[in-house]
Amino acid sequence: MTYQPHGDHLIAGQRIGTEARWTSSPAHGPVHAFSTGSPALVAQACAAAEAAFWSFGYTARAERAALLNAIADAIEARGAQITEIGTQESGLPAARLEGERGRTTGQLRLFAEHILKGDYLDRRHDPAQPDRQPAPRPDMRMIQRPIGPVAVFGASNFPLAFSVAGGDTAAALAAGCPVVVKGHSAHPGTGEIVAEAIAEAIASQGMDPGVFSLVQGGKRDVGEALVQDPRIRAVGFTGSLGGGRALFDLCAARPDPIPFFGELGSVNPMFLLPHALANRGATIAQNWAGSLTMGAGQFCTNPGIAVLIDGADATDFIATASAALAKVGPQVMLTDGIADAYRQGRDRVRAGTGVTEVLTSACDLRTATPYLFEVSGDAWLENHALGEEVFGPLGLVVRARDAEQVAQIARSLQGQLTCTLHLDPEDSGFARRLLPILERKAGRVLANGFPTGVEVADSMVHGGPYPASTNFGHTSVGTLSIRRFLRPVCYQNMPTDLLPVDLG
Ligand code: NAP
Repeated sequence: MTYQPHGDHLIAGQRIGTEARWTSSPAHGPVHAFSTGSPALVAQACAAAEAAFWSFGYTARAERAALLNAIADAIEARGAQITEIGTQESGLPAARLEGERGRTTGQLRLFAEHILKGDYLDRRHDPAQPDRQPAPRPDMRMIQRPIGPVAVFGASNFPLAFSVAGGDTAAALAAGCPVVVKGHSAHPGTGEIVAEAIAEAIASQGMDPGVFSLVQGGKRDVGEALVQDPRIRAVGFTGSLGGGRALFDLCAARPDPIPFFGELGSVNPMFLLPHALANRGATIAQNWAGSLTMGAGQFCTNPGIAVLIDGADATDFIATASAALAKVGPQVMLTDGIADAYRQGRDRVRAGTGVTEVLTSACDLRTATPYLFEVSGDAWLENHALGEEVFGPLGLVVRARDAEQVAQIARSLQGQLTCTLHLDPEDSGFARRLLPILERKAGRVLANGFPTGVEVADSMVHGGPYPASTNFGHTSVGTLSIRRFLRPVCYQNMPTDLLPVDLG
């Protein structure tokens, strides 16, 4: 049965409607009205989250694991409805929404399993040394404790896996932190039905309903109030560099600055080393075209830049990539704003000195078709703007003069979520030279693959130096992401019966 959004906020289990309403802009399907958020509603949600922390922050790991599994069940029970409204709002195909739902519930279940093991608590113990000279050593035990209420901002391009019940929410709940989500205006109905699933799961576990709230947006002051609310202890954000930077600055300017875990943009450069290019250039070019245009290129891990050494192999690579990209038809973009930003990004690249348009295209209001540009290594090094993300299916090939210039280009990069090496065994000397540079630039370095498709796993790192993220010591995907919402506390000479249960 089709889900009919009520359009209200969901604050501590209560539906709250406001007279002020705004209407959604779905890619197709019916338009719905949603209550506009306000700083007063944000304050209400944060107060409920803070009150809930005093019970939720002290739950046993098994209780939180049960909650995460119950949320996954409640999402699965609404699977068909979520796919329908998610498809309408985002324009993404049903198969993509279904896959993303599986990723979202799989992530919740993985985190449940992970916290049960307890390793994430990083428990340490330095036993007392009463006879130590010149002074005795006290007994010290350390453990990770939840930090308090967490604010979450989801991204438009992952209406499920990076949104209301996405990685940030799952990580915060796993840690023992209540969550206040600021709904994304690109998929408010999808956000609402998922919020209903979370609220149902919280009720089924007999937990304080303040553990979760969704405040719909509609106005920018909602997000601004949320990151500045004194009860919020950290922010998980996935979105644009501009939006993320604005909210990060607000967090830093608070009387009590809090961490802002922003996962922002990236151009995810690929380096095609000479033997791989000569032996497999055509295959790499075709696969690149597939990765670059997947989901209309609307992935933060989209590999927008290919760097190679100039010559006949480079020319062949560009010709094959161009032919493969030319076959990709128009794709619907997530929002009118993203489609507009794509065209602006194209214009910026096109206007760059020394840039040649290899494959031209045409985009209407909400669709994108691929573009391919090329530029020399010299021109790239002169124009830092070419290293900025264009969110969409646009590729830029950088023709370097020689191996030294490839290394120079690598050194010129901003922080990235990923960097990729395409190499054959004969390229390993060159790769050994590049790798120390690339590992300083990116959270994940790949060999002979494409960065789109981020595994949810223990060793995944989805983050990187700014502007890929605002906090390079962390990841927003994988079990390590729980660590963002914990802080170490040392208990010195504390009687055992007063220690947290997990230290006992
Ligand atoms: P976005 O426009 O930055 O929006 C993200 C959220 O932040 C929305 O809730 C938005 O509110 C809010 N927001 C944005 N600017 C704000 C401001 N100045 N003040 C208050 N709130 C603000 O990003 P998006 O369109 O959702 O996502 C596309 C971008 O995200 C791309 O650049 C992509 O590369 C990046 N991304 C990164 C990752 C990653 O893991 N690094 C993953 C996916 C996407 P509204 O709802 O009112 O717009």
